[in-house]
Amino acid sequence: MEYMPAFRLHRPASVEEAVALAAGDPAVRFLAGGTDMVVNIRRGIERPTALVDLSAIPELGAIDIDSGALRIGAAVTLARLAADPRVAAVWTAVAEAAGSVAGPTHRAYGTVGGNLCLDTRCLYYNQSEWWRSSNDYCLKHRGSVCHVAPGGKQCFAVFSGDLTPGLLIHDATVDLVGPGGRRTIPLGDLYRDDGMDHLALAAGEMVAAVRVPAPPRGARSGYLKSRVRGSIDFPLAGVAALVVSSDGLATDIRVAVTGVNPRPHRIRGIDVHRGHALDDNALDAIREAVRTQAKPMKTTTVAPWYRRRVVGALARRLVARLASS
Ligand code: SF4
Repeated sequence: MEYMPAFRLHRPASVEEAVALAAGDPAVRFLAGGTDMVVNIRRGIERPTALVDLSAIPELGAIDIDSGALRIGAAVTLARLAADPRVAAVWTAVAEAAGSVAGPTHRAYGTVGGNLCLDTRCLYYNQSEWWRSSNDYCLKHRGSVCHVAPGGKQCFAVFSGDLTPGLLIHDATVDLVGPGGRRTIPLGDLYRDDGMDHLALAAGEMVAAVRVPAPPRGARSGYLKSRVRGSIDFPLAGVAALVVSSDGLATDIRVAVTGVNPRPHRIRGIDVHRGHALDDNALDAIREAVRTQAKPMKTTTVAPWYRRRVVGALARRLVARLASS
């Protein structure tokens, strides 16, 4: 780990001030908890001219529920979100995901906005400067070759935020603020399937809040992840699911994944199980759909085939649990 380089640090009191401080300089970074950003700075991956600390902006620090809909400010810590009984009771997958991020000290500082905007990760990227330079860097940063797929020009670094799948199954949207003003987009549209450039944010734009509508009546949701060290790691694979059942039949079912693609996403084709019992055949089909749409590459020390099997198994186990509870 290298020494911390020099940069300016701003601590604005409003979102508008924060956006103005970042305008016009692509090397300025927004900072909240810093649990990932600071590591990347010390590794030379990020080289900011200035950091805009968002922790003193009141608008970003609130969790509100209004007319059954949830609004979470981007600077709300993961620990606070995980401990909110209102969130756990209604949007269970969101609370479970927040409580599963890294370790307790990371959750005490790490924020909702930081987890949603987490940089993609790869075995060949999240390394020290000397390690990366001695391997001629890679496509994602300063190099010309992808060590995972040397013949191509695509980066397969994976998105590893835990929160996103739980929010995707709840049809969340995100409030963005930038030099062009404010806008709200579906959370799924925040991400691109490109490990080098995975966030669809305009220059100088930041996430201000995530909005989550009330789930369907009777919905049950949850989040499961697999990781190397159960006490601290990023997900090797993470799955969120939502199930609504009536008279033994599924009336709604949603599944989303993280940790296995550059872009977290909802699993397609799950709707065919609506109106049917979630029996062993249906659960097997859901597992296969998840496996098929997960595209893990050799971006971790754990083999892709294993992560593909695990993500399917997690989905099957979680949907079975929600269907029987
Ligand atoms: Fe670099 Fe390839 Fe890994 Fe992307 S997938 S970070 S280009 S080695």
